[in-house]
Amino acid sequence: MKRVLVVGASLAGLCTAEALRRNGYDGSLTLVGDEQAMPYDRPPLSKQLLSGDWAPERTALRSDEALAALEVEFRLGERARALDPVAKTVELSGGSSLPYDALVVATGARPRSLPGLRGLEGVHTLRTLGDALALRDALAKRPRVVIVGGGFVGAEVAAEARRRDLPVTLVEALPVPLSRGLGERMGEACARLHVRNGVRVLCGRAVAGFDGDTAVERVRLEDGSTIDADLVVVGIGATPAVGWLADSGIRLDDGVLCDAYCRASAPDVYAAGDVARWFHPGYGRHVRLENWTNAREQAAVVARNMLDPGSPVEYTPVPYVWSDQYGTRIQLAGRSSGDVRIVHEGEDQESLLALYRDGDRFEGALAINSARRLLDCRRLLARGADWHEALATAA
Ligand code: FAD
Ligand code: NAP
Repeated sequence: MKRVLVVGASLAGLCTAEALRRNGYDGSLTLVGDEQAMPYDRPPLSKQLLSGDWAPERTALRSDEALAALEVEFRLGERARALDPVAKTVELSGGSSLPYDALVVATGARPRSLPGLRGLEGVHTLRTLGDALALRDALAKRPRVVIVGGGFVGAEVAAEARRRDLPVTLVEALPVPLSRGLGERMGEACARLHVRNGVRVLCGRAVAGFDGDTAVERVRLEDGSTIDADLVVVGIGATPAVGWLADSGIRLDDGVLCDAYCRASAPDVYAAGDVARWFHPGYGRHVRLENWTNAREQAAVVARNMLDPGSPVEYTPVPYVWSDQYGTRIQLAGRSSGDVRIVHEGEDQESLLALYRDGDRFEGALAINSARRLLDCRRLLARGADWHEALATAA
C-alpha cells in the first residue's frame, strides 16, 4: 500500500490519517475535502461558537504544526464526484482523477431540508462553520426564533437562544421530543428542561410551510395555526453524504454499507464516521452512528485494518454521545432500547441516571448532570456486564 486517499477532511478523515502515521504508514496520504477550511471541530459550532465564547479559529482540530508533521497532501475546496473501484480512481469536481491503493470514505452527513423553503432568508440549518457564523449573526439581531425538530441541533440552538433571552418556539413532529431515540419517559425529561427554561414546546405538530416574500415571516403548521418568526432553524436530522458514490457500484443503504471490519463492498475501500453503516457484531445488525466519539474510534480501527488486512479486527464500540444545553450535560452510552428504569434522580430534578435493559441484557444509560455515574456505566457496557450488575453498581 503506497497511496492512501481519504475523501472527507473532517474528524473521521483526519483521525484516520493520524492513526495511519502513528502506526508506521509512510506512503503517500491525500485528504480531499470540499470545505475550504482546515479540519475543524463541529460540537463547538452549536455551543461555544454560537454563544460567542470562542472565536472561529479555536474550533481548529489541530495546530498548523501538527498538520504539517502529518505530511498529508490536503486538497481542500475540492469535491469528489465519482469513484471507479475497478480502476481504483476518484474523480474530483475540477476534473482531475486521483489513483489509490486504499480509499477511506469519510464524507460525513448533510442536513436534511424541508420542501417549500424557496431559499427564504432567515431559514437556517447548522452543519458547517459558515452555517454557525451566519446563525450567530442572525441571533444577535434579537429575532423571534422558531426551531423545527427537537433533536440535538434544535435543543442546543434553543438553549443558546434562551440564554440570549429570545422568544423560542420548538416544533416537534413526534408527541414527545427525542422519544424515538430515548423512549417516551426520557424524552419527556429532556423536554422538561426546555420548558423550565422558557421554551414554548409544541409536540405532535408538523410544519406545513413558511410564509414570507424574501424573508421568512411565519411558520404554518398542518393544524392550520401559524407562528410568527424572524429566524427559523431546521434541525430535522442529517443524511449520509453518499451522492458521489451513486454510480460506483458500492453498496449503499443509509450510508456506505460495511462489514464488521469497516470494509465497503469493493476491494480496499473502507468507511468511517457519520457516513459508515457497518455490521456491529455485538448488536447483530448494521449500525450508523452520528457522533464525535464514533468518528474517532472508527477511524482508528479503519487505519488498523488497512495496515494489516490479513488479520483485521472487528469494530464493536459502545456508542457514546453528549449534549450541552442550559448548562446541563446530557450523555447517552450504549443503546436506549428496551425498558428504562430511573436509578437516580436529584431532588432538584437537575440530575438523573436512567438505565435501559432488554431482559437481562444491560443496553445503555442516559445521564443528566451525572457524568461520574455515566462513566461507570460505560465501563460496564464495554465489558458486557448484565442488568443485575449494572443495577447493583449504579444504585
Ligand atoms: P463530518 O464532520 O460531516 O465531515 C465530513 C466532511 O466531508 C465534511 O467536511 C464534508 O464537507 C466533506 N465532504 C462531504 N462530501 C464530500 C465530497 N463528495 N468530496 C469531498 N468532501 C466531502 N457529536 C457529539 O458526540 N457530541 C456533540 O456535542 C456534537 N455536537 C455537534 C454539533 C453540531 C453543530 C454538529 C453538526 C455535529 C455535532 N456532533 C456532536 C456530531 C459530530 O460532529 C459528527 O459525528 C462528526 O463531525 C462526524 O465526523 P465525520 O468526519 O464523519 O463527518
Ligand atoms: P437529530 O438529532 O437526528 O434530530 C432530528 C430531529 O428532528 C428528531 O427529533 C426527528 O424526529 C425530527 N424530525 C425529523 N424529520 C422531521 C420533520 N419533517 N419535521 C419535524 N421534525 C422532524 O438531528 P439534528 O438535531 O438535526 O442534528 C443533525 C446532526 O448533527 C446529527 O448528526 C446530530 O447527531 C448532529 N449533532 C449532534 C449534537 C450532539 O451530539 N450534541 C449536537 C448538534 C448536532 P424523529 O425521531 O421522528 O426522526
